[in-house]
Amino acid sequence: MQFFDTHCHLQDERFKNDADTVIRQAIDDGVEYFVCCGSSESDWGDVANLARSWKQIIPAFGIHPWYQKCRSTKWQEHLRFHLYEFPEAAVGEIGLDHHHTSNDWNEQKSLFVQQLQLAAELNRPVSIHCLKAWGDLISAFSMAPELTGATILHSFSGSLEMAGVLEKMGCYFSFSGAVTYDNHTKIRKAAQLVRPERILLETDSPDIVPMGYNGYTRPSAIQQINKVVASLRGLNELEMSDIVFKNALRCFKVDNE
Ligand SMILES: [Zn+2]
Repeated sequence: MQFFDTHCHLQDERFKNDADTVIRQAIDDGVEYFVCCGSSESDWGDVANLARSWKQIIPAFGIHPWYQKCRSTKWQEHLRFHLYEFPEAAVGEIGLDHHHTSNDWNEQKSLFVQQLQLAAELNRPVSIHCLKAWGDLISAFSMAPELTGATILHSFSGSLEMAGVLEKMGCYFSFSGAVTYDNHTKIRKAAQLVRPERILLETDSPDIVPMGYNGYTRPSAIQQINKVVASLRGLNELEMSDIVFKNALRCFKVDNE
C-alpha cells in the first residue's frame, strides 16, 4: 500500500532526536510523501531543512492561529521567501480557532485572509485548521480571491452538513487519528460519507494520537487511520489507500510516475 500523510509536523521538538528514524520507518511502512506543515515563523527554517534533506517531504509554510502573536513585522516577506524557494510548497498550517485560543478574533481572521490571498496569488494548496469557526471560515473565503490550489480542511471535525456545504466550494477533507475513536461519531460520519474524490488522510504527527497508540504520533500511524476509514466506508485497506493516495497526488500536484 502507498500512503500520503497530508499533514504532519516533523520539525516538532518531539522529533528532535529521532526525525530521521521516524521518517525512514514511515517510508518502510509505505508512506511515500509527507506534507510537513510549519506553524509559526520560527519553525519555517526547520521545515525547509527537512524538505531539502528528503525528497518525500513537501513543505508547507504558514502561521497557525495559536501562534499569531509570535510573528515579526517582516513575516510576509519571510513567508514569500520560503514559498518561492519551494514551488511545490503549500500554505499551512493556517486557520481559525474559536475553541482553543482567546487570541484577538479580528487579528486572527485578518491573518488568515492575508495568507489565503498569498496562496491564491501563488496558486498553492492550503492546509486549514478550523475549530468551531465554520461560519467565519466561509466568510473568510469570500474575503480572499478564489483559491486555485487545493483547499484542504485538516483533521476535519465539522458535521456532515457542513462538509456538504464545503464540498460544493471545492474543499477536500483530511481525516486524522481522531477518526479512530468510537465516540467521535460526527467525525466518523463525515469520514464515511464525504465524496470519495474529496477524502484525504493524515497523522498530524506528533499530535492527535490514534486509539491504542503509545506515546506521540508518528506518520506510520497512517496505516491504522486508513484501516479505520476503510472499514467505515466498507472498503478493503488497499482500495481505501488507493483512493486517498490518488487524491493527495492531485491536491499537491505530485507527478508519481
Ligand atoms: Zn497540525
